[in-house]
Amino acid sequence: MLELLFNKRHFYPNEYKKTVYDIDLQDLWNSNIRIIMLDLDNTLLSYDEYKATSKIHQLFETIKRIGFKIYIISNNKKERVRSFAKQVAARYVYSANKPFKLGFKRALKYANYPNPETVCLVGDQFMTDVLGGRRMNFYVIVVNTIKRKGEKWFTKISKYYERRILRRLLRTDPDFYYNMKLDEKR
Ligand SMILES: [Mg+2]
Repeated sequence: MLELLFNKRHFYPNEYKKTVYDIDLQDLWNSNIRIIMLDLDNTLLSYDEYKATSKIHQLFETIKRIGFKIYIISNNKKERVRSFAKQVAARYVYSANKPFKLGFKRALKYANYPNPETVCLVGDQFMTDVLGGRRMNFYVIVVNTIKRKGEKWFTKISKYYERRILRRLLRTDPDFYYNMKLDEKR
């Protein structure tokens, strides 16, 4: 259903990594990416965690040291997003309503309206992060969901669509599909 409303290309990420820690940040910088937008839930923390781990702190330090601007962009509520963003000293957009554009536009405004092609979005959901980011013409990296347990009903439904998208991708563009090297459990 939803596939009919959007261009199919918008469902396909540019890159797949197992976790956020597997992203080659220097490589992104060399490819002219200057802004990184990160999803929060199940990309950085599972729903039942709230504290940034030392690994997360290290990641944010590296991102900042290289010179990227960084934003947390989450569909979750203000309290959770703000409390996390404070810990890592990053700007944030809460209730972003991904895959719709408004939340992304808010983050772009904070960044002084950069060229969208200099933005990399990292997230775990095809129906919100990948679809939303690709519609914005961002470079999109999809990572594995940290923990499926505790996912909200909307996420469960969108997982259903995600499986359909992936099956179609396998059928229509097997090279790309295998290149993503998705985990079996996805
Ligand atoms: Mg997520």
